[in-house]
Amino acid sequence: MHLALLAAGVGPGDEVIVPTLTFAATANVVVHTGATPILVDVDRRTMNADPARIEARLGPRTRAIMPVHFAGRGCDMERILASARPRGIKIIEDAAHAVETVCEGRKVGVIGDATSFSFYVTKNVMTGEGGMLTTDHDDWAERIRTASLHGLSLDAWKRYAGSGFKHYEVLLPASSTT
Ligand SMILES: *Cc1c(COP(=O)(O)O)cnc(C)c1O
Repeated sequence: MHLALLAAGVGPGDEVIVPTLTFAATANVVVHTGATPILVDVDRRTMNADPARIEARLGPRTRAIMPVHFAGRGCDMERILASARPRGIKIIEDAAHAVETVCEGRKVGVIGDATSFSFYVTKNVMTGEGGMLTTDHDDWAERIRTASLHGLSLDAWKRYAGSGFKHYEVLLPASSTT
């Protein structure tokens, strides 16, 4: 989620909408970029951020909305997209609980600009640790892949598979997590 926000150009002076009911990571990653998390209350029935309250908090500094599909319940993505798209606001979904969640006929992972899944040990699909990010922005995917591997231009598959060893370059001042 942190790298997706960076790929979306989120930084100091920007605001990102985050629901009140979530794990701390959703707001923490906003703070890591230097932007300000704007907390929006959830609907008691859906446990997800209320689209009307999201709309009410959008302003000139809003760069992204982070819908959380809490406990696998899909957010009202049509309304959230309708608020975001005309204003050029990006949607980064927190799908840590939402493998296989469907919103209005579309699976979570193909709806917003980027979607983050968690395979941590407490989640519904888990590998112990790990996660996955989906996006259909090829430039984001490229940048995020590089940033998630110390800024290296080639991962292990590209360095050692097929035609033999290849040298890599360090393109970004990234650690394994930034
Ligand atoms: C668990 C969780 C995360 C963090 O996922 P990790 O894979 O542990 O980094 C983020 N958001 C929510 C809503 C979570 O429940």
